[in-house]
Amino acid sequence: MIKRSFIGLLKPRLKYGSVAETPSLKQIPIPKEITLFSNCPFDKKNLLLKKKATVKTGQKLLLYKESDEYVVSSVTGQVTSISSYTGDFGLSYTAITIEVSDDEEIDDEFKDVSKDASKDASLEIIKNFLAFAPGNPPGKLFSDKDKSLNTIVVCCADSDLLITTNQYIVKSDIDAIKNGINILKTATGVNDIIMVASQSQMHELSTIGEKINQVNDTYPSALPHLIMKNILGKVVPAGKNPEDIGVCFISAEAVASIGNAFNSGQIPVTKTFTLVNKDGSKSLVSARIGTPAGDIFKAFNITLNENDRIIFGGPMTGSSVYSEKHPVQPDTDAIIVQDRDDIPVISDYPCTNCGDCIRVCPANIQINLLVRFLETGQYEEAADQYDLYSCIECGLCSYVCVSGMPIFQYIRSAKYELDRANTAEATNNG
Ligand code: SF4
Ligand code: SF4
Repeated sequence: MIKRSFIGLLKPRLKYGSVAETPSLKQIPIPKEITLFSNCPFDKKNLLLKKKATVKTGQKLLLYKESDEYVVSSVTGQVTSISSYTGDFGLSYTAITIEVSDDEEIDDEFKDVSKDASKDASLEIIKNFLAFAPGNPPGKLFSDKDKSLNTIVVCCADSDLLITTNQYIVKSDIDAIKNGINILKTATGVNDIIMVASQSQMHELSTIGEKINQVNDTYPSALPHLIMKNILGKVVPAGKNPEDIGVCFISAEAVASIGNAFNSGQIPVTKTFTLVNKDGSKSLVSARIGTPAGDIFKAFNITLNENDRIIFGGPMTGSSVYSEKHPVQPDTDAIIVQDRDDIPVISDYPCTNCGDCIRVCPANIQINLLVRFLETGQYEEAADQYDLYSCIECGLCSYVCVSGMPIFQYIRSAKYELDRANTAEATNNG
């Protein structure tokens, strides 16, 4: 996350960004090469996809034997490399690089399977073809028999600061959202659809004919856990997600992806996001999924100097990446470029017990105590005694910390390490 030098308020009132009345969208030309990331760890032995394979735009690419993991090619071209990529916390991904051909061909498979989709088939189609579409429609979750979903929340507001993707989609593609909602209702059998929107979106959404609830314009009101509490009146137990208590969250962009895919017979392959330049200026951008950040910077004449920082995601919850080759992914809602002189120093000053973090924490966590355990790697104690799992990952504590402690990074890292240890234990116990 970004820390800003203008911290001075104990209770920061951070207002969400809003899209222009008539927003303009800059289209980035198709790059010479794209890279697609799959969450699947690289496994050379079981690769199904081969180097030099030719692929078409919108083609589903299954990656491994005996696995249903896939990506969708956003271009027509030839696979030039399939390799391992290491992301946050050392997580391993599979990276597929495709050299783009001059002539574009659209793959037909989705058109054929979606043409006569019956009610049951459309759920399978969403899961098997649209998980890599813009916004990452949560197909697996819809068809997970262990979750009995009774409500779908469509987020038309954006969840982090500066981001305006969902707001843009609501303005520009309301028919696709309407179509997507109808498909979701039929496919999932869930009729309780709740739209969550900012005040300025209420009028635009009134034509959809679903319940609309207004979300506050102050960060972090649009995060799922707070929507659950403040709008649905349900508290998500610590360490659980909304889907564990029957509520599925989906972005307006993901709903529009479903609506557009079934309407056109093509899997959408273009992502909308906000580019924030070093001077803080913002632009709405549209690029093929897999476009390297460097191609986007080139289109905006942005020059990166040594030690400048690139952040993928919003300023409160995004993560730094270390290369201009890092590609736009289906869930990339912002790319932020920070000048090296504007990057605040992460300090190793100790906690002064000022209490600012506790006052801003929406989960009422005693962060000054929690942080002592996190700093020394005592993660189990942090979870058992100091509410680690109540954290809803808003990043406000890091934002306000006068000592410049990277609290939010500690929290994410602790949760990741504990999850990893639990998974290993479960595997060992058979
Ligand atoms: S990120 Fe920090 S402020 Fe936000 S919920 Fe977690 S502990 Fe509280
Ligand atoms: S962690 Fe930072 S904000 Fe929280 S009490 Fe300590 S110094 Fe203050």
